[in-house]
Amino acid sequence: MRIASLLVILLLGACQSVPITGRSQLQIMSEGAEASLGLSAFQDVLQKEKISTDTALNAMVTRVGSRIAVATGRTNYKWEFKVIENDKLANAFCLPGGKVAVYTGIMPFAKDEAGLAAVIGHEVAHAIARHGGERMSQQLLLEGVTLAAAVSVKDERKADLYATLLGVGATFGILLPYSRLHESEADRMGLIYMAKAGYDPRAARDLWVRMAAHDKAQGKPPEWLSTHPADEKRIRQIEQWLPEAASYYHPVR
Ligand SMILES: [Zn+2]
Repeated sequence: MRIASLLVILLLGACQSVPITGRSQLQIMSEGAEASLGLSAFQDVLQKEKISTDTALNAMVTRVGSRIAVATGRTNYKWEFKVIENDKLANAFCLPGGKVAVYTGIMPFAKDEAGLAAVIGHEVAHAIARHGGERMSQQLLLEGVTLAAAVSVKDERKADLYATLLGVGATFGILLPYSRLHESEADRMGLIYMAKAGYDPRAARDLWVRMAAHDKAQGKPPEWLSTHPADEKRIRQIEQWLPEAASYYHPVR
């Protein structure tokens, strides 16, 4: 189903606050509408991509993802976790509504279950914090158009752009990088989610250190890294948040 045709949304126009950080943000679209678009994009992606039949890997992604999902406390999300068979693509995403995909290519970076929890925790945090919705709302505000006007425009490229800004562009292979602010917020929230889920949050720092080392060695970042700069500043900031996250950490049995 075309995302564009689904952009028939109620105009709410409201300020929301981000869980954990409490930052206030503009959200024009309702969370339910966002979730419908997320679901539609997810179905498109699953149709296009090859789903992994690796039983052990699927079990691991579902286990880690489910624990992270519980840690977020979001029971109204229709959580789903899929592994996409593509060793060349080191990527992962969580669409609005709790639709998570992990590409097999990210596993060498994730390395183990705790590393995977760091990746999923971070992606889930973007969705819970509704960073895509915020980005789209800001763009609409900037353009001075209401969402209702935006969707009535017959320009499909424009509708695709809004879908991409919303963070459901996965269906046409585009996931835009988030701003530094959104990245930092997702890092902090992700650390807390993984800790609450029973994974040592220090694994997140180790993941970023591995990412940075790979970047240096290869000169060309993997997909996920190209939208997630693994620089010194990021690693230092994560280290500063570790004590906070550690207070939520109880190892899984
Ligand atoms: Zn991110």
